[in-house]
This record gives sequence, structure tokens and C-alpha cells, in this order.
Amino acid sequence: MVVILKPGTGQNDVRRMKAYFEAKNFTVGVTVGVDCTILGLVGDTTALDMGKIQQFDVVERVARISEPYKKANRKFHPEDTVVDVSGVRVGGEHFAVMAGPCSIESREQIVQIAADVQEAGAGILRGGAFKPRTSPYSFQGLGLPGLNLMLEAKAETGLPIVTELVSPEYCEIFEEKVDLVQIGARNMQNFELLKQAGRMSKPILLKRGLCATCEEWLMAAEYIMSEGNQNVILCERGIRTSETYTRNTLDVSAIPVIKQKSHLPVIVDPSHSGGYSYLVEPLSMAAIAAGADGLIVEVHNDPAHALCDGQQSLNPGQFRQLMQKVNKIADLMGKRVET
Ligand code: PEP
Ligand code: MN
Repeated sequence: MVVILKPGTGQNDVRRMKAYFEAKNFTVGVTVGVDCTILGLVGDTTALDMGKIQQFDVVERVARISEPYKKANRKFHPEDTVVDVSGVRVGGEHFAVMAGPCSIESREQIVQIAADVQEAGAGILRGGAFKPRTSPYSFQGLGLPGLNLMLEAKAETGLPIVTELVSPEYCEIFEEKVDLVQIGARNMQNFELLKQAGRMSKPILLKRGLCATCEEWLMAAEYIMSEGNQNVILCERGIRTSETYTRNTLDVSAIPVIKQKSHLPVIVDPSHSGGYSYLVEPLSMAAIAAGADGLIVEVHNDPAHALCDGQQSLNPGQFRQLMQKVNKIADLMGKRVET
């Protein structure tokens, strides 16, 4: 349920109303907007008398939120959320480009790619240390030593890092070392992992599950937010369809759908969506034009010999060209690319 207070309601009255609902055992989120202040009540509101609440003179309107996601709901928080990733903002008018290899392979590789993507205008370095692979015989990532190599690339460039968390056992180390914690498509409904991510203080990049509906995806965000962590960035990375000429099908419509339903920023992964490097640019353009708040792109210094996802990786030259177009389209959409 949301309780919308009248424009100009003073801080004392906001506090008084918050305390009133807290005394009834609700968790109360307060959103101070330009036009009004909204109290978002979390808890079982079925027994609340809406008419009685309406009678408070500072209350403009009371509305129930029928969707199962509350904290992720735009009705709960009408303005766009802007997530700060160690100084790089994502959401609202802030557009962020995350780029780097699918997996960290060596010090030289990650440090070189970090310098290349930074020069081209990326704001955040991506790279997997733990790789959730379909086959147990495929390269599984370098694990914690890989994460340490990524930290060396961060030290050299100053770029914040995003990398995938696959197990609660690494939460503590990620909390300490990672700027943006990625939950991969395969773990979007790993509810214990989501709850742990919700107890972290670092922002979370939540990728859409392979066959997840937008509502299931928002419910996964709700798991994180209900534990206290409100800094969630959603990532559309293509869904499974009957098409075989692309790895997945980029669901462009999910971008405006999520933006209408939720205040959370939405970025797009054109690499895992299309599965081929030639598709990265057109899918990126479509994503920005549809309102995306950022991109996460796989870039490798030697795609032909990459240990993972080489065929969908751009080389640094291709990434530079992509960034020129990204800057133009983002500008047309009223967004500024964060570096
Ligand atoms: C990745 O970004 O490295 C990755 C494995 O992506 P996804 O979880 O979307 O498949
Ligand atoms: Mn990959």
C-alpha cells in the first residue's frame, strides 16, 4: 500500500505518519519526490482501514499495490532510481557502459583489456572469475586468483569492477572487493543467493533468467530489496525462444515494460543476447533507443582464442567504434555516458 502525502507536508508530519504505521508493525519506506512524499507500507495491509487513513489531513490519497512486487514497484517510488557504482551512476539520465572479457584469463589479458575499454569510454570493467558453464568440462574461470587479477586491473585504471557471485560462500570477499555484484541468469531464482545479496551493502546487477517473465524477474529483485539492499540494476540479456540463428532473443520490449512497472535502472547485454559479435552493435542501438540505462559488453583482446564466448566478443577496435555510436544515440535519448 502507498500513502501519498499532500504537497508541502512538513518533515514533522512525515515522521508522525511514519511512526503511526510503524506502530502497526509495518516497514515504512519514505520517498521524497519533487511534488509529494510517498510512504510505502510493507506488510499485510488487508486489515487496514483505508477510509480512516484518508481522513488524516496530510494524506492526499491511499492506494493498494496489486502487483506482488512492492519495493521494486514504480507506484512505491515514482522517480527513477539512480544506482551509484563507486562513483559511476546508472539510471535516470546517467548511462553506464560496462565492458571487458567474458572471463578473466591472465594478468596481461585483463589489464590490457581494462586499459583499452577505458580509453574507448567504458565506465565499469566486467570480467568473470567464476563462470557458470553448461558443461563441467568447459573452462570454469580462475576463481579467487582471477578476482585478484581483476583488482590489479582496477588498481591500474581506477575502473570499478562488476563480476558474478555464484555462491553465498563468497559474499564476504565480494562485499570487500567488488563494486557491483552480478547475479547471473542461471541464478536469477536462486533465492538463498538473492537473500544474501540483499544483505550486502554493494549494488547488485540482476540478470534476467533464461526463460523468466518480467514479473518473475521483478520478484527476484524484490527478494534482494526486501532484505534491505535497494541498489538493484536489472539486466536484460536475451531470453530463450524458438530462434536458433541467435544465441538468445533480445527482448527489447522488456525495457519499456520494466521501466513502466519499476523505478529500477535497466541495462542490456547485447553479447549474450545475440551470441555473435556482428549483432552487438545493432542490438546496442536498439537497446538505447528503447530507453536502456546502460550496456554490458564482452570485449576481448584476442576473441579467436578466448577461453569463453569469443564469437560474441568485440575486439578493442570494434568496441571503440561501438562507443562512438553509443555516445550519439545516448545523447539523442537525453542520457549522458558516465566515465
Ligand atoms: C556473464 O555475463 O558472464 C554471463 C554468464 O551472463 P548470463 O548470466 O547472462 O548468461
Ligand atoms: Mn560470456
